[in-house]
Amino acid sequence: MDRIIWLPSKSGRFSVSSAYRALSPEVPNIRWHSFVWNRMVIPRHAFSAWQLLSGGLPTQDNLMNRRMLNESSCILCSGHRENSKHLFFECSYSNEIWNHVKGLLEIKVDNINTNRLWMSIFKLCKGKSVVSAVFSTMICATVNFIWKERNARRFQVFQQELNAVHQGLLLARKLSVRQIEVASDSLRVIKVVNRIEAPPWDYQNQLHEIWDLVSGFQHIRCYHAFRETNRATDHLAALGVNQSLNVFYFISPMTKELCNIIEDDKNCKVYLRSNHYR
Ligand SMILES: [Zn+2]
Repeated sequence: MDRIIWLPSKSGRFSVSSAYRALSPEVPNIRWHSFVWNRMVIPRHAFSAWQLLSGGLPTQDNLMNRRMLNESSCILCSGHRENSKHLFFECSYSNEIWNHVKGLLEIKVDNINTNRLWMSIFKLCKGKSVVSAVFSTMICATVNFIWKERNARRFQVFQQELNAVHQGLLLARKLSVRQIEVASDSLRVIKVVNRIEAPPWDYQNQLHEIWDLVSGFQHIRCYHAFRETNRATDHLAALGVNQSLNVFYFISPMTKELCNIIEDDKNCKVYLRSNHYR
């Protein structure tokens, strides 16, 4: 009988730790603990850096690998799947921050070569001198800053999408609509509204109001729609960017572009998600 071999481990046998390493980002196999757990590094910055280096950050790709998520776009640029390498090094947003930091530290390695970049960083931060400790502090603070910005933007999107669902339901009730379909491009909002995922603690009250509204409809279906398959909504959202209103109820007259989008949707135009994401 043929033997099944688990390639990521040397012995060929499966282990959780080898699987975890196989899913981790590209990091040189050298001792980096002293770089992160440095006495000058702020503990929460050290924690972010440690999570990044050990592959434990709950980025979209990691959550997908653990089958906890099926949505993967980068919140900082919306043009790429979110994974640790992209989020922290390749993304245009992060790249600009690193260029500044690398300029200060005189690191000349390109961000695309993550492995070489880490080697240069570890080399600079090696040893027990105050200078190397300051360098470690700067690197860990940079990692933490990018992670914090990413989380703040994700949180903001959740808040906006939840408010939009709430406002839409209130309007439908006011208009005595009895049957409704609700689509959102935030999978988390849909999971929370459908009670598949627990809501954040500070949204409990709003969710109870939404659930009350939901129970008042004769028929309601809340589902996730990818943004690029929901062009009409995206178009309206773009129109609302410079408006003081959070929600558009009616647009009159409808723009030519919106009419074309609706016509495309009526004709069952197929939108290929893979065209948008590399
Ligand atoms: Zn990005």
